[in-house]
Amino acid sequence: MTDSSTNETNDPVTPETSRRGLILINTGPGKGKTTAALGTAFRAAGNGMRVLILQFLKGSWHYGELDSVPALGTALGSKEDPTMVIKQMGRGFVKVGGAETDPEDLRMVQAAWDEAAEAILSEDWDLIVLDEINYAIGYKMLDPQAVADVLARKPEMTHIILTGRNAHPILIELADTVTEMREVKHAYQKGILAQKGIEF
Ligand code: ATP
Ligand code: MG
Repeated sequence: MTDSSTNETNDPVTPETSRRGLILINTGPGKGKTTAALGTAFRAAGNGMRVLILQFLKGSWHYGELDSVPALGTALGSKEDPTMVIKQMGRGFVKVGGAETDPEDLRMVQAAWDEAAEAILSEDWDLIVLDEINYAIGYKMLDPQAVADVLARKPEMTHIILTGRNAHPILIELADTVTEMREVKHAYQKGILAQKGIEF
């Protein structure tokens, strides 16, 4: 008997009528939250979808994806209208614990969220990655309920991925797919520092 939910190659069959935008969360202490989101972005872009990646808090390090994403976005779209866009919305570090939140960090998170909310509601993008947004929420720089309220109003076909440890329960409740990366071991524990192409 043929399973109607799969085809001959066992790939999922997705009739047009069952297409819908998902909310996904990559969380947990293990490595792979951002890179899995970038992998999904790569997959979506190859399907002709428009992808926006907004990186909360990040800013000082030069990550490889800052060059790969525009190259691919321009190749699949055009220089004037790239189909993949990435923006760092922070300055690469935030002071947490003890000291009060720096107003400049707060301002940058607020600006990032304003841009994210506008993008989510715009229908201009098929996939939006809100990279490290869970940290901004965890550091109490962003209200999880405000994020949930916008996600609840997102256009039906828009996919959203949120990354970062300790995803807020309100957002986990709202999401369709939540993956928790579990750390089995990490090179850092042996004192091995971040490696080009793997960590940045
Ligand atoms: P990646 O960007 O590599 O997918 P991530 O998004 O899962 O990592 P973040 O919490 O955003 O993880 O932290 C980013 C940086 O911290 C990366 O350089 C990553 O290798 C490192 N990192 C992630 N998990 C661990 C861990 N368990 N121990 C030490 N360093 C880690
Ligand atoms: Mg990350």
